[in-house]
Amino acid sequence: MATVETVNGPVNLDELGLTLIHEHFRATDEATRFQFPHMYDEAAEWEAAMSDANAIRGHGVQTVVEPSAMFLHRDAAFSKRVADESGLNVILATGVYTYEHLPQPLLNRTEDEIAEIFVPDIEQGIQGTGIKAAFIKCAADEPGVTPNVEKIHRAAARASQQTGRPIMAHSRPASGTGLDQMRIFSEEGVDPGKVQVAHTGDTDDLAYIERLLDTGCWIGMDRYGLDIFLPTEQRQKTLLALLEKGDADRMFLSQDWCSTLDWFTPEAEEQIKPTAAPNWSMTFLFEQVIPELKDRGMTDEQLNQMMVENPKRWLA
Ligand SMILES: [Zn+2]
Repeated sequence: MATVETVNGPVNLDELGLTLIHEHFRATDEATRFQFPHMYDEAAEWEAAMSDANAIRGHGVQTVVEPSAMFLHRDAAFSKRVADESGLNVILATGVYTYEHLPQPLLNRTEDEIAEIFVPDIEQGIQGTGIKAAFIKCAADEPGVTPNVEKIHRAAARASQQTGRPIMAHSRPASGTGLDQMRIFSEEGVDPGKVQVAHTGDTDDLAYIERLLDTGCWIGMDRYGLDIFLPTEQRQKTLLALLEKGDADRMFLSQDWCSTLDWFTPEAEEQIKPTAAPNWSMTFLFEQVIPELKDRGMTDEQLNQMMVENPKRWLA
């Protein structure tokens, strides 16, 4: 029986059950927090994470894939505590989440040397815990596939080639990055069926999505609630159109929710949220999105495909 690495060791793919493919129990900047810990409230962060973990358990979720790489404060011990206290399976990544900046130790290493940094996370464990990364994360955003971003993508590809592990690539459809990202993976010889292009659901440009699907990758319809990138109704229409075309076996549903996010001051957050993300949460899918999709024709089989079967197949 095939297994996948979780924070509590290998779990049979058949035991993953209902899976959220892209959520964060905490997303903060590790350099800022190491230098200025007074900006952070550990107890409040823990409470926020547990409140979300318990809420999704209440909706039947059994597994959360948490793609918090370097620069999103990946913390294997924290994620294991969330899993232990909630009963969830939590699946972690190795990799780097950057839109351009790289610190000197990575700037001065080659793609192969960076791949060599990722591989021990997969083979031995993350941060000395013995918790193994199940996949590799990289990102491209508004600046596009810059030389530094390309280097991380090639390093991710080579680590994937060495270990057989899948890749999740954060993308920005508004800049059309997905196709560039897939081109790099293809040049590196990565099987496109191992790659998930995250945040593809941020566009309703079906022609773009079509071209991306033609490369053979998976796509993340994974930012429900982030109206700033695309309002819910447009996400729904796009998803329903893709279901109609028979693409249920290529997509994931998630929210990219962050139980804690340190990007803005609390005051700015209060100002932004009503227009940018009024409904964003770790349970929005279950409270509104899925019931609405069912009313509009999504079958239980399609839902099961996207939230149970596809995670198994991508992680395998
Ligand atoms: Zn994310």
